[in-house]
Amino acid sequence: MILVSSCLAGLAVRYDGTHCMNQKVCELIEGNKAIPVCPELLGGFPTPREPAEIIGGNGEDVLDGKAKVIEKSGRDVTELYINGAYSTLKKAKEVDATVVVLKESSPSCGSSMIHSGGFTGQKISGSGVTTSLLKRNGLRVLSEEQFADYLK
Ligand code: SF4
Repeated sequence: MILVSSCLAGLAVRYDGTHCMNQKVCELIEGNKAIPVCPELLGGFPTPREPAEIIGGNGEDVLDGKAKVIEKSGRDVTELYINGAYSTLKKAKEVDATVVVLKESSPSCGSSMIHSGGFTGQKISGSGVTTSLLKRNGLRVLSEEQFADYLK
């Protein structure tokens, strides 16, 4: 089974109430080969919600207690992000996921890029909190772009 970001599956769960539907991911869902998951909703957030970014590092640093996830207005939401990551890991184990396809650049789901923490649109290399935890537990995580190459 493949676990995929819900927003890639066309579900309007992004912070601003939108989705970023990916045709290949939708085909997996329609073929019963994938299950959608949104780490931020599993962590306890509603949709819509405030944008948040990792401040002081990347998802690895958040897991190690060296960086935080902060909403634009300043609320520390680190614990909710970590809860969402662990809930996603639990789900991945339950469905025996072999591959996980997550939305690039998100503070939860990014796999090679995340926002810089300044709420300026600038990106830096690094992975999100959920991606970092899944990788630490041996799961193969791909972005939607990497997944397109993976299918070739
Ligand atoms: Fe949810 Fe991840 Fe999509 Fe953000 S990027 S809306 S956390 S599935």
